Amino acid sequence: MTVLVIAEHDNAAIKGATLNTVTAAAACGGDVHLLVAGHNAQGAAEAAAQIAGVAKVLLAEAPELADGLAENLAAQVMVIAKRYSHLLFPATAAGKNVAPRVAALLDVGQLSDVTQVVSADTFERPIYAGSAIATVQSIDAIKVLTVRTTAFDAAPADGGSAPIENQPAAGDAGLSSLLGREFSKSDRPDLIAAKTIVSGGRALGSSDKFNDLLSPLADKLGAALGASRAAVDAGYAPNDWQIGQTGKIVAPQLYLAVGISGAIQHLAGMKDSKVIVAINKDSEAPIFSVADYGLEADLFAAVPELIRAL
Ligand code: FAD
Repeated sequence: MTVLVIAEHDNAAIKGATLNTVTAAAACGGDVHLLVAGHNAQGAAEAAAQIAGVAKVLLAEAPELADGLAENLAAQVMVIAKRYSHLLFPATAAGKNVAPRVAALLDVGQLSDVTQVVSADTFERPIYAGSAIATVQSIDAIKVLTVRTTAFDAAPADGGSAPIENQPAAGDAGLSSLLGREFSKSDRPDLIAAKTIVSGGRALGSSDKFNDLLSPLADKLGAALGASRAAVDAGYAPNDWQIGQTGKIVAPQLYLAVGISGAIQHLAGMKDSKVIVAINKDSEAPIFSVADYGLEADLFAAVPELIRAL
């Protein structure tokens, strides 16, 4: 039995979500191989070879693999897919874009957002926005999984010395091309990897107030900024800050929820945080049911006070 992890990378380095996926792959049993499909991606392949627990790195390089286009990456995975018992993708935007295509091409079911590997064919995954955990047994010969990265520790990024094997490129599927990419520039930590997150809700009332109150607090704490969907929908915060069922899943050491009610869809994205602090003026707000520390207060008074105290 051999397990393949499809690495997420930027051609130069491996992204953190891959390390958590390697841990999930190791739990499936058997050797763990890593596919690095990219262009001029030797750097990423060398970094992949250092990951502890990886037995082999497969490197496929071609211009059409440069940008991680889902159609081309799925075709590349298909070249080798049938050699493997399991194909694992991080449940990130990129992984979730490719895994279903591969599952469909293999005509197997996809196991989405796996949070625990019970055995080689049995997995746990959250359902109903995390209100229940389903234990799912797959009878498919090849299991295609997306892995909830916050549920697995990161494999050590070094300590391994896997060989790198070149793979022939599958060719351009001709179905998509990248027209452009805009990066949001921020000095703050990446939301997914941040140890501390300050997250704001609808109660902030405007984009200006969101920034005026929460940015200094995040600066003091060295935190990333997040938001509820209501705050994003109202335009107070950018879309890629959204945390929850239809946003990002995070599990930082400290999650500070400011003016967020704690709707089940929001909790689905943050309730595994190590320490949760909530500021809300409504003592009945559901966020208090998951908070380790709750402050029943008006955020417009409490946040400036907190910033001064820090
Ligand atoms: P509200 O529910 O309006 O809560 C505002 C809170 O602020 C209240 O608790 C209030 O007491 C408090 N407050 C008000 N004024 C003050 C003040 N001055 N000081 C202190 N506290 C104050 N939501 C997400 O967040 N992420 C998701 O991914 C997500 N996905 C969804 C998917 C689906 C299919 C659906 C149906 C919904 C989804 N939602 C998601 C929306 C979710 O149901 C809630 O509507 C949303 O989370 C509410 O955001 P909020 O807590 O900021 O706003």
